[in-house]
Amino acid sequence: MFNVSIGLSQRVIKCRAAVAWEPTAALMMEEIEVAPPQEGEIRIKVVATGVCHTDLYHLFEGKDKRGFPTVLGHEGAGVVESVGPGVTDFKPGDKVIPLFLSQCGECKFCKCPKTNLCDRNWSSKYHDIMSDPTTRFTCRDRPILQFMGTSTFSEYTVINQIAVAKIDDDAPLERVCLLGCGISTGYGAAVNTAGVTPGSVCAVFGLGAVGLAAVMGCKNAGASRIFAVDINEQKFEKAKVFGATDFLNPKAYNKPISEVLAEMTNGGVDFSLECVGNTEVMRTALESCVKGWGVSVLVGWTDVKDFSARPIQLISGKTWKGSLFGGFKSKDSVPNLVCDYMTGKIKLDEFITHKMSLEQVNDAINLMKTGQCIRCILNISK
Ligand code: NAD
Ligand code: ZN
Repeated sequence: MFNVSIGLSQRVIKCRAAVAWEPTAALMMEEIEVAPPQEGEIRIKVVATGVCHTDLYHLFEGKDKRGFPTVLGHEGAGVVESVGPGVTDFKPGDKVIPLFLSQCGECKFCKCPKTNLCDRNWSSKYHDIMSDPTTRFTCRDRPILQFMGTSTFSEYTVINQIAVAKIDDDAPLERVCLLGCGISTGYGAAVNTAGVTPGSVCAVFGLGAVGLAAVMGCKNAGASRIFAVDINEQKFEKAKVFGATDFLNPKAYNKPISEVLAEMTNGGVDFSLECVGNTEVMRTALESCVKGWGVSVLVGWTDVKDFSARPIQLISGKTWKGSLFGGFKSKDSVPNLVCDYMTGKIKLDEFITHKMSLEQVNDAINLMKTGQCIRCILNISK
């Protein structure tokens, strides 16, 4: 039967994208083909995207050849171009944020208030290659994987509706894109996962966008003292903007920073958050907590080696936890976080230190690699 209703969405779109052909190599600007959205899928015109350390991790540290070629980028915002069959909650023109963590609403995890995991997320099945092999991207006749199920370093992308959040029509896409990953992650790790309490003493290790958002979360939750810890002292000024009260460079001391913190806080902090992605720092963050009730949260991303700690750390009453996307149920929470930004409850503008075009993506990656930026926003399309 001739189907007239989905004429436009059936078209293959040719567009610009930055392709990562292999680990550690520079991204290449290419023309890619983006297939029409299939059942339950949405094709999105990406307007802006942030560059997150997790993009760099996959490119430089993951070193898993099965995860290539791919289009990186997972912190974007855009506008719906067309929808596939069965999509009723989205229409062309809607403003959206792609979600690297889905929320199908039906699996046992989505139905449980204790977690934000979703069984239908790309990572449940395809963790080892970082994306679903039935990608909608091709380039030079080769299938191109979609990094974290999203791929925002492209003018167009196709994403399942369970991994897309519809947001306010007035939201500025070139700023709220940050809520697709880093800011929601750090903020939620403090307010949701750690459960920072009023009057508490906190320490945040690593002051990139994720760590600074964790500082903002501690502040909004009412912490009385927030230690900002980084080996790059240039980050301290920004940390102050988000509410940090004390600043420590571990390299400036000839004893472990956990001991320095213990002396300054009468035994250790109530909450610590690791926002670096370094197993040694994870251990230090745990050791920096006060015995009896201290809570330490892993936010930094790494999956290439084991970590260790002395069992007495936990026997003495500390809790060690991890946080994915700040513990936020993604589809429900991201639209609310956009409203929180628009009403002034959370900051976003202060995280943006650079703006570039998609063609400058390798420069943006280099800025982050060398610690010269907090977030660089790439303008993908008008
Ligand atoms: P970033 O590179 O901008 O920031 C990292 C910061 O850590 C830098 O300021 C750096 O100077 C500092 N640092 C490095 N070594 C340190 C050390 N030994 N002690 C103290 N500070 C140190 O990265 P980002 O985009 O803010 O991401 C931070 C981490 O969060 C990454 O590992 C990223 O992959 C991870 N992440 C996790 C999730 C999640 O859901 N859990 C989501 C997004 C990002
Ligand atoms: Zn990220």
